[in-house]
Amino acid sequence: MTRKRAQVAVVGSLNMDVVVKAKRAPKMGETVMGEAVHFIPGGKGANQAVAAAKLGAQAVMIGAVGDDPFGRSLLESLRKSGVNTRGVKTVPGVATGIASILLTDEDNSIVVVAGANGRCLPEDVEAGREMLSGADILLLQLEIPLETVLAAARTAKELGMKVILNPAPARELPEELYRLTDVITPNRSELEFLTGRPVDEGGLEASMKVLLERGAGCVVTTLGAEGAALLSPEEGFRRVKGYAVEVVDTTGAGDAFNAALACGLSEGMGLSAAVDFAGRTAALAVTRLGAQDGMPLRKEVEEFAK
Ligand code: ADP
Repeated sequence: MTRKRAQVAVVGSLNMDVVVKAKRAPKMGETVMGEAVHFIPGGKGANQAVAAAKLGAQAVMIGAVGDDPFGRSLLESLRKSGVNTRGVKTVPGVATGIASILLTDEDNSIVVVAGANGRCLPEDVEAGREMLSGADILLLQLEIPLETVLAAARTAKELGMKVILNPAPARELPEELYRLTDVITPNRSELEFLTGRPVDEGGLEASMKVLLERGAGCVVTTLGAEGAALLSPEEGFRRVKGYAVEVVDTTGAGDAFNAALACGLSEGMGLSAAVDFAGRTAALAVTRLGAQDGMPLRKEVEEFAK
């Protein structure tokens, strides 16, 4: 049986990731020598669009870059992966967004400068309405202005699309956005931020329930190596186990997960099956360096952990 091809739209950020590798992070005021620097196309929006395209989706993106070499290189990276970039505008006189990523033996830490992403506006969503209408799922994150996220979610609902909101980086959200969201996908710390309470094992379900009560259709919490948890009116609360892999770079794990979740749902998978597909995709992504380059192809996910 041939499956329906996923049709995924992303309204979100594009950043150049400036990745510095070092044994450990410097303390405040300290300098340490790093081992290597890489310039890697990133941004949660772009990463998710690329991941969706690599998984076989027809992926379109709305966003903004600066008129500079980083911007051109980001557009090139999207196109190379098969993402339709017609909705990505080039803004003169503004720098392309960057993420400065410190990758150490323990973990990673990131500083993001929005740059041109701050110029991705509700009018760009309106201009891209026809492009959006070809997709059945809209993927959103929070690295562009909140008013644009809200405008995109409203437009998607008008067009009869499903909305997945990856609330990253975490910020306060208007009630309306919860109500426009079919699936909200915080990681553990984003869930803590949104609910204002620590998430221990016993409290996970209760915290996720808070987001349902605010109006989200269902909640999927990513839990790093432990996998994920889902809460939906149809399926109730469920833990979905993670896949044991050798970790190389966890940057973009959440992006791989969200893109795969979008593809799975767009192809008609149930929520549990889509969450498992997302976990496999993200597990493969963390075994490789780089957010976009590390995104696995569809056949790699299908061959992994059969
Ligand atoms: P984020 O990248 O947004 O912080 P998580 O760390 O929760 O999000 O990771 C997202 C998903 O990526 C997890 O739900 C899991 O499926 C996968 N993942 C992350 N880290 C690992 C790991 N060390 N081993 C296997 N899978 C992982």
